[in-house]
Amino acid sequence: MTQPKESATPVKDTVPFFDLQVQTEHLYDRMLEVTKEILTSAHFIGGKAVTDFEEAFAQYCQAKYCVTLHSGTAALHLALLALDLEPGSEVITAPNSFIATAEAITFAGCKPVFADIDEATYNIDPALIEKAITPRTRVIIPVHLYGQPARMTEIMQIARKHNLIVLEDACQAHGAELNGIRTGSFGRAACFSFYPSKNLGAAGDGGAVVTNDEKIAERIQLLRNHGSRIKYHHDILGHNFRLDALQCAILKVKLAELENWNNRRIEIAQYYNDRLKEIPGIVIPETLPGARHVFHLYVVRVPNRALVEEVFARRGIASAIHYPVPIHLQPAYADLGLTTGAFPVTERVTESILSLPFFPELLRQQQVRVIDALAEAISLSQS
Ligand SMILES: *Cc1c(COP(=O)(O)O)cnc(C)c1O
Repeated sequence: MTQPKESATPVKDTVPFFDLQVQTEHLYDRMLEVTKEILTSAHFIGGKAVTDFEEAFAQYCQAKYCVTLHSGTAALHLALLALDLEPGSEVITAPNSFIATAEAITFAGCKPVFADIDEATYNIDPALIEKAITPRTRVIIPVHLYGQPARMTEIMQIARKHNLIVLEDACQAHGAELNGIRTGSFGRAACFSFYPSKNLGAAGDGGAVVTNDEKIAERIQLLRNHGSRIKYHHDILGHNFRLDALQCAILKVKLAELENWNNRRIEIAQYYNDRLKEIPGIVIPETLPGARHVFHLYVVRVPNRALVEEVFARRGIASAIHYPVPIHLQPAYADLGLTTGAFPVTERVTESILSLPFFPELLRQQQVRVIDALAEAISLSQS
């Protein structure tokens, strides 16, 4: 009996939303090498692997200091605690972020106050920040959503005018720039996430605060380690929010690839832009003049999202929504008393956004399949 013939190269007939395995295949040897070094040294907490990565990432962000932490959420939380704000201080941020931005504000004893977004870039609208300022406002947290820097020039002007501190939520924007300045060096400090699917991701959870302010860096170093400089001597109360040596060693290997990955993201986004702008009804992402958008996500707006999702499902194409429910409408924030209509631009945008398959190794042929599916969905919705 003969075996049924198998094709030499299996045809990939699905398009995943994101593919981490293909991204790091060529780095396995180096990641295993550094892992073995840590395992043989048995130096798992702190030490050279941690400070080496911190130095390299600070340099990448064009900032003086980097303090690694166990998540982006921890970075936002400790950055706020390091500012020593009076309880009940108001912190202005965008309602269309991941919930962690607001959670950190709440758990730091402050109140999240939202300002609606600008419909072109999906980032916080500086004019609306100014309207949200009260005598209790202390901090603005612009989120560089989807990898695009927020309107930092205007935001820094507003902050100076009203004597407010700016903390950047750069969890989706490693390497993004505005007028040649990297995200991470605009505000007092910037918070990054190394969640595996971020532009720079660990082999697990991770995060960091980047800053030019030595006092903030020192304060966060204390807060992440039980307020301790010398073992069993505690200057202040803190947490255990450290990032371990294994994660830092792996992140350092991956950091060397980050510019290549970001440049690939920009090329892939350009091809989507060029092709999708020909399809009527699809709104492609708009890049702020002077910005380097590093496309953590490639998000379009579509007229009939349910139909697009149906066509995608039929053709084996994945997609996602970032995010399906704005923060002010989440049950977890019911106590803020905000209802539908509070932030109309965010709410309108939420109804039609769709994140397309996107990662640095996405193949042209996979992109073409996504584009064809979108074209089909649009022509179906018009017939
Ligand atoms: C991922 C993310 C966070 C939280 O980071 P974690 O590492 O998952 O805790 C915060 N803000 C934004 C905008 C994010 O995308």
